[in-house]
Amino acid sequence: MKISSYEVAILKVPEDDPLANMPEEAGRFRPVVMLRLRTDNGIEGIAVTFYGGKMTGSLKVAVEELSELTVGEDPLRIEKIVAKLRSGTGDSCGPGGIFTLALSAIDIALWDIKGKALEQPLWKLLGGHRDRVPTYASGSLRRGLTDDQAQRAAQILVQKGFREMKTQMALPGNPTPADEVRRVTVVREAIGPDIKLMCDINQRWRPEQAIDIGSRVEEVGLFWLEDVTTADDYQGLARVTAALNTPIAGGEYLYGIAPFRQMIEARSIDIVMVDIVRAGGVTQWMKIAGMAEAFNLPIVSHVMPEILVHLVAACPNGLTVEYMPWMLALYEETPVIDNGDLILPTTPGLGLKFDEKAIAAFRA
Ligand SMILES: [Mg+2]
Repeated sequence: MKISSYEVAILKVPEDDPLANMPEEAGRFRPVVMLRLRTDNGIEGIAVTFYGGKMTGSLKVAVEELSELTVGEDPLRIEKIVAKLRSGTGDSCGPGGIFTLALSAIDIALWDIKGKALEQPLWKLLGGHRDRVPTYASGSLRRGLTDDQAQRAAQILVQKGFREMKTQMALPGNPTPADEVRRVTVVREAIGPDIKLMCDINQRWRPEQAIDIGSRVEEVGLFWLEDVTTADDYQGLARVTAALNTPIAGGEYLYGIAPFRQMIEARSIDIVMVDIVRAGGVTQWMKIAGMAEAFNLPIVSHVMPEILVHLVAACPNGLTVEYMPWMLALYEETPVIDNGDLILPTTPGLGLKFDEKAIAAFRA
């Protein structure tokens, strides 16, 4: 079996909020690069990558250029292909930025091909620790909503059966610490004490602010506080982690595998969050999961639950899957949620099929 052809396209995916229907602004789109990687025996592996923003055209070209280097290769020899792509760019275009975002698309498509060729779902190929895994609603309880909107959205998520959900602090404008505390308190009041509540800061606080506000919200009982300060301030994060009882999550902004060594050795975080397209795809994500396991740390996913459910379920230290619905509209079917858990698909590879009508409608 050899890789024979590929197709790359830019899609504009609507940025709505299908979980609680509480968008901050209607009519926005997220640009995404779609890849189909085909083999000479008729298997097609699929993937998407993003974070290109206004450079999405460049990301598309990067995926095309790297895809061209895979033609003629055995798709089951993924590490050989990754090494060829790295050396093909002089080992100098990564690990940060467009090279890794493009590499990730190819790696994900290769794992989809491997699963289809071996007729096994990805989560089993990767370890198959569990066949269902907890998930949390994400993207609805955003900082731009009013308290009232956030409370209503939170109640909708509870009614939909979510047992875990994420909100945000670092409110817009010039909030006082009391304003920040009020927001998570009203969300907690709306959902009751038994729902797990995470809170994302998206790197917007200084370490001492994180310690101050983080201390004030300890009694709200957050499941984790996420990206409390600049993602590569490993020492600043470690000060916050040491100061608070609430677990600190982080890692989604890091590229490749090596920064996770620094982050984990510095005791910067309690929960390791890994973004698959910044990590370098399935192959590198799983290496980071193993690194976390060796340090007795849980691992959690960032966005794309339809793909990451496989990886979190595969690992013994997988904690929960972020149910961020950004890309769900691209597929005919995505994993179902039952009693707050995502159920792993039994179909081979990623178990996903592009919804061709949606793909046609989203083409840029
Ligand atoms: Mg985050």
